[in-house]
Amino acid sequence: MCDDEKDNKLSLIGLSLAELQEVCRDEGLPSYAAKQMMEWLYARRVASIDEMTNLSKAARERLSARFVTGINPPVEAVSSSDGTVKYLFAVKGRSRTEEAGQPAKTVASSFVEAVYIPDGERATLCISSQVGCKMHCAFCMTGRQGWHGNLSAGDILNQVLAVPGSESLTNVVLMGMGEPMDNLDAVLKALSLMTSTPGMGWSPRRITVSTVGIKGTLERFIRETECHLAISLHAPTPEVRSSLMPAERIFSMTQMTDLLRRYDWSGQRRLSFEYILFRGVNDAPSDARRLVRALDGLQCRVNLIRFHRIPDTALDGTDMDGMIRFRDYLTQHGIFTTIRASRGEDVMAACGMLSTAKNRKF
Ligand code: SF4
Repeated sequence: MCDDEKDNKLSLIGLSLAELQEVCRDEGLPSYAAKQMMEWLYARRVASIDEMTNLSKAARERLSARFVTGINPPVEAVSSSDGTVKYLFAVKGRSRTEEAGQPAKTVASSFVEAVYIPDGERATLCISSQVGCKMHCAFCMTGRQGWHGNLSAGDILNQVLAVPGSESLTNVVLMGMGEPMDNLDAVLKALSLMTSTPGMGWSPRRITVSTVGIKGTLERFIRETECHLAISLHAPTPEVRSSLMPAERIFSMTQMTDLLRRYDWSGQRRLSFEYILFRGVNDAPSDARRLVRALDGLQCRVNLIRFHRIPDTALDGTDMDGMIRFRDYLTQHGIFTTIRASRGEDVMAACGMLSTAKNRKF
């Protein structure tokens, strides 16, 4: 439960049915009012308690004295010429676990990004799970921010519920700022509220969670949700991966693929591997051959991604001809492979670019 910035009232979004029943008990409301509140919060997305019109006026007044819905619209939006919109949501600093060796610090306010991506009949929202990130991937602007705290389940859900066009979303991907497995309790709670009834009632097949792979929490995620899983791989071998992603040194891609092979991915739940192609680093024909070997025996797909340049890095993206050659090799060797369309190039599309610029102003 998090404090509302303006008046220190508590937010209702992010609360489960059991927690809302507890609120009802505390406020002297009938228990069934909790289900009604779930409907108002997660299906109708009302901005104020006063709009919960099937609660009595007295009940709304009692609730309003202590609570707000917690649905807070984005503070900034930047639109791309291709229809992609990058939103910034303000989140308040809150208690956090210290990063090893770093003193705990509290920030007054920070910003996280969500990206709305319309595509024909589909409208996908890419959301964040943390303020900054501990993983320090070499190609990522968010990684350079360092970690500044975890989002609550309410903060994660707020991006979905308060974004303009929320009702028309068809898919959500947790591929924005932060590593979801490093904030798994809040992520699982948000996913549960998105996929339960009462709640948003979505099919878990509409949600994909992306991770570098963290030992222990990855297994918990696989067991406790049915949402799709996307692994940020970006390399064909542990050596190349550890040069790009420090997380490889803690839980290697070999250990991770061994673990993934213990689960069945032949059903509707999808396992995919994300692979940004970097010129001269991981895009040679020999890399494609090694990648096929690394994924041997896994029912999966590979998404090839064009690198969105960030400042002060020697890394460069592979051109489209190179990407097509890489894709064709994987496809010929039985791996369903796509080249992800590049969207929002003109709105600081690389993850963390816009929030980094905004945070610097504060
Ligand atoms: S790519 Fe993802 S896991 Fe890596 S630093 Fe960026 S946000 Fe963190």
